[in-house]
Amino acid sequence: MKLSDIRATLQEIHVSPVKTLGQNFLHDQNLARWIVDQAQITSDDYVLEIGPGLGALTELLLEKGARVLAIEKDTRLANFLHERFAHERLEILNIDALKFDARNLFTHRRVKLVGNLPYNISSQLLLKFLAPQSPISLWLFVLQKEMAARLSAKPSTHDYGSLTLRIQLRHHVKYLRTVSATVFLPRPEVDSAVVRILPRDPRELPPHDKELLLELIRLGFSQRRKQLRKLLRERVDDWDTLARHLNIDPKARAEELSLLQWIGVVNFIAPLLCPDIGLTNNERFPIVDKNDRILRDASRSQVHGNNLRHRAVHILIFNPVGEVYLQQRSRWKDRHPLKWDSSAAGHVIATESYDDTAQRELKEELGISVALKKIVKLSASERTDHEFVWLYRGEVAGNLSPSRTEIEAGAFFPEKIIDGWVAARPEDFAPGFIECWKVYRQKNCSSRDALT
Ligand code: SAM
Repeated sequence: MKLSDIRATLQEIHVSPVKTLGQNFLHDQNLARWIVDQAQITSDDYVLEIGPGLGALTELLLEKGARVLAIEKDTRLANFLHERFAHERLEILNIDALKFDARNLFTHRRVKLVGNLPYNISSQLLLKFLAPQSPISLWLFVLQKEMAARLSAKPSTHDYGSLTLRIQLRHHVKYLRTVSATVFLPRPEVDSAVVRILPRDPRELPPHDKELLLELIRLGFSQRRKQLRKLLRERVDDWDTLARHLNIDPKARAEELSLLQWIGVVNFIAPLLCPDIGLTNNERFPIVDKNDRILRDASRSQVHGNNLRHRAVHILIFNPVGEVYLQQRSRWKDRHPLKWDSSAAGHVIATESYDDTAQRELKEELGISVALKKIVKLSASERTDHEFVWLYRGEVAGNLSPSRTEIEAGAFFPEKIIDGWVAARPEDFAPGFIECWKVYRQKNCSSRDALT
């Protein structure tokens, strides 16, 4: 929309821009086109647009053939958009984007996020939509210039801070260009900038204790002018040895350390030990016949190397609202690293029953002991990696303590979202989980049908 069209439209729909909603409408059409081009949108994309306003970017996203979910808080603008674009590939949600359940995005195959964000809540939006476990493959934001500079900052600069590190820990941020305030109606008080963000492969950075890293960063930047030696005194006994070891200035302040050096500090204090693969390979599993009768036992590598039938358990842990905890397998797993899986799972080892294994895995992987019910038994087949699998369920009201070496990440998900996720992105999951989920859902639905 041209400047004159925006003026006329606002008058027609009786809207005067609301400052607290960050309503500054883009009227430079060439720039709008350039912005959307940076997101490399194709007709395979599902684009979440935050704050579509009068549709300056929405129109171009639809022109590229994408499916668009536009979230607009202002009802007057959402109603206008409904009238302006009666488009089958556009869905408009009239809600606060901060309240949107981003887990829904897992049910789409190629997800991108585009937004000329309302400035007053941009950091909240960034932290929400740049959360660690996300199916989003590209973020393209128009932001206040100062915020864009903070996200993309380099060490030892004024803009480099804890937000920079929190975002760069999981993403690559590129400052694409500065945008003058004059391209918006009304004109904001400051300039803006366009940034493009891509997810990092978690394996790009050395393994580390994520919670400890965030805590140290928070402490380190709590007083920017103070030396880390003082600020981290409680956490690091011998700062000089650490500084020598990491080759950093012993008088360094938080802003002087790169992301890799911060990870170095964490790993100096509390190294995350990679599980001993040799030991795991020597574990012994009972191997069984086609009726699940034990024949003898064999080492893990023999079992997997020769596709011998063996035994395993999968456990689904539910929270009080009926959501299922899924874990993302650790990067160190020999099979299906970084794939999503049941809440806990593992092989039955020699001397154990299925029930023993289920309780052991629950404790080892999630740090809990709760009563478990057997749901169903799956027969050994290629699809289960030649495992007979007993599937269990349990409930938990409190917190889990996922093992840092076994589990990369995890979260609770509604069953319907898991259904959609498995259908849209099966490659995200360990194959054994998909089998268990199918059987669980069939059984669940048929027992519900029997009750009705
Ligand atoms: N995309 C349009 C453009 O480029 O012209 C409008 C951008 S304007 C900077 C920000 C938009 O975000 C406004 O339409 C405003 O109503 C909307 N908005 C503000 N807060 C919001 C929130 N919490 N959730 C969703 N939309 C919001």
